[in-house]
Amino acid sequence: MGKVYLVGAGPGDPELLTLKAVKILKEADVVLYDRLVNEEILSFTKGDCIKVYVGKEEGRHTLPQEEINRLLLRYARLYDRVVRLKGGDPFIFGRGGEEALFLARHGIPFEVVPGVSSFHSVPACAGIPLTLRGVSSSFAVVTGHEANGKRKAVDWRSFKDVDTLVVLMGVRNRGKIAKELIDAGRDPEEPVAFVERGTTEDQRVVISTLKEVAKDPPEVYPPAVMVVGRVVEVHHIVKDFLENLKLPEGIGHGR
Ligand code: SAH
Repeated sequence: MGKVYLVGAGPGDPELLTLKAVKILKEADVVLYDRLVNEEILSFTKGDCIKVYVGKEEGRHTLPQEEINRLLLRYARLYDRVVRLKGGDPFIFGRGGEEALFLARHGIPFEVVPGVSSFHSVPACAGIPLTLRGVSSSFAVVTGHEANGKRKAVDWRSFKDVDTLVVLMGVRNRGKIAKELIDAGRDPEEPVAFVERGTTEDQRVVISTLKEVAKDPPEVYPPAVMVVGRVVEVHHIVKDFLENLKLPEGIGHGR
C-alpha cells in the first residue's frame, strides 16, 4: 500500500509552490491534478510520472468526487507515492477534507502538504491587505457558490460586522452576493475588488462598490477572488505608487 500526499499547488505562480511540494512532486509516481493547478507545475515531476487530470468545470463535473476517491484508492494500491495536487491550499474549499476522511476510512496512509491559498495571496498580489491597523481587524472567507439554489448553506447576515470579506467561487453569483450583503446591513458604498487570475501574468483587477455590483455586476471571469471592505482602497495607493514610484502626500509616512 502506497502513501497519498494531499498537496497544495498554490494560487498559480509556480514560484509560490512550497519547497516541500516540489520535493514530493519530484518523487511522485502518480499525480492527480485539478483544473486550477498551473500545468507548469507538472514539469517538476519525473519523466515516467503518470499525470491524471481530474478537474471539474464549473457546473459540469468532469469526474464526480466518488470517481476521484476511487482513483486515489486504486493508485494507492498500485504505486508508492501518489500525489493529489490541488489549487491553493488543499483544505480550503478544495474537498481536501473529504478526501482525507475518505483515505482515513479506507486505512490509506496520507500526508497533508499545505499550500499558499488564493484567499490571501491573490488579494496580496493586487495590493490589498486583508488586515490593516485602524481599518480592518478581522476577515472572513466564504464560498459564493451556495448563494443560489437549494443548498443555501451560507447565512450572509453573519458577515455584517466582519471588516473584510473574501468570497471564493463567487463570480457567477456576484450580483446576488452584493445584494445579500447590503440586505444584511453592509454599507452599499463599500468598495469591492475582483481579482481575476491572481499571481499570474494575466492578473486583472476590477474595482467597484457593493451598490454597483448589486445593480449592474461588472464583467468578471473565473477564477476570481472577490474582496469586500475598506482595505480595497489600498489597491489604488499601491498601484499609483508602483506606477509613479512615489507615495501620495501624507500616506505611509507615519508609524
Ligand atoms: N483551495 C483553493 C480554493 C479552491 S476554490 C485555495 O486555497 O486557493 C476555487 C476558487 O479559488 C476560485 O473560484 C477562485 O475564487 C479562487 N482562486 C483560486 N485560484 C485563483 C487565482 N489564481 N486567482 C483568483 N482566484 C483564484
